[in-house]
Amino acid sequence: MIYLKTDEEIELLRISNLIVARTLAEVGKAIKPGVTTLALDKLAEEFIRSNDAVPSFLGYGGFPNSICTSVNDQIVHGIPSNYELKDGDIVSVDCGAYKNGFHGDSCYTFCVGEVSPEVLSLLKTTKEALYKGIEAAKVGGRLGDIGSAVQTHCESNGYSVVREFVGHGVGHDMHEEPMVPNYGRRGNGPMLKDGMVIAIEPMINLGKKDCYLESDGWTAVTSDHKYAAHYEHTIAIRKGGADILSSFEYVEQVLGNKAI
Ligand code: MG
Ligand code: MG
Repeated sequence: MIYLKTDEEIELLRISNLIVARTLAEVGKAIKPGVTTLALDKLAEEFIRSNDAVPSFLGYGGFPNSICTSVNDQIVHGIPSNYELKDGDIVSVDCGAYKNGFHGDSCYTFCVGEVSPEVLSLLKTTKEALYKGIEAAKVGGRLGDIGSAVQTHCESNGYSVVREFVGHGVGHDMHEEPMVPNYGRRGNGPMLKDGMVIAIEPMINLGKKDCYLESDGWTAVTSDHKYAAHYEHTIAIRKGGADILSSFEYVEQVLGNKAI
């Protein structure tokens, strides 16, 4: 069942998503060599709670923390730990916040210090693919239009698309129908309707698309151990085009001219 949201519900979803956006910026301020991913988690949790919201991820399916921190060859669902970030790493910070009965969900992949040009171009292409997917999310179109746009952009640049993890509807539950794959065919899948709220979240690998799950039961890692990138926005599909409810504006203010 795909729930269509009212205008009022979409404004509540925007509030939750902007808390996530500002949390990602707070995390971004702290990212530098020597910082542990657990320290990032702690400040994210404090910031979310200081906005009278609750971290969506904490306890979700037993997940132990408030953000996912996926470093280098980790694709998604990395568990914050005592790992100290080092120069040349990348870290995807995925964050959710729950307030007024609605979730926000967004992810940004950050660079730690100086990152190789090869990895920078993976990040740039993945972020571009997210916006191509958003552009393809039109009332009257089909869900496959989104995945096709993401997949075409990434594969034509020589990268591969993770199949095991996908985007999703967002609402009272963090993960609602429909599933939003980052691959697909134009014209296939459910029709996109005004009021649908979905998270589009390309997870894109520098090497092959295959991945495996670490023994912690959460962390997904590329099988060839090449780096992976992940960007995510929650959007509302509207008659006039997609309304992006989350935002990278706060993060990119923090990153300044280092933003990708
Ligand atoms: Mg997310
Ligand atoms: Mg998500």
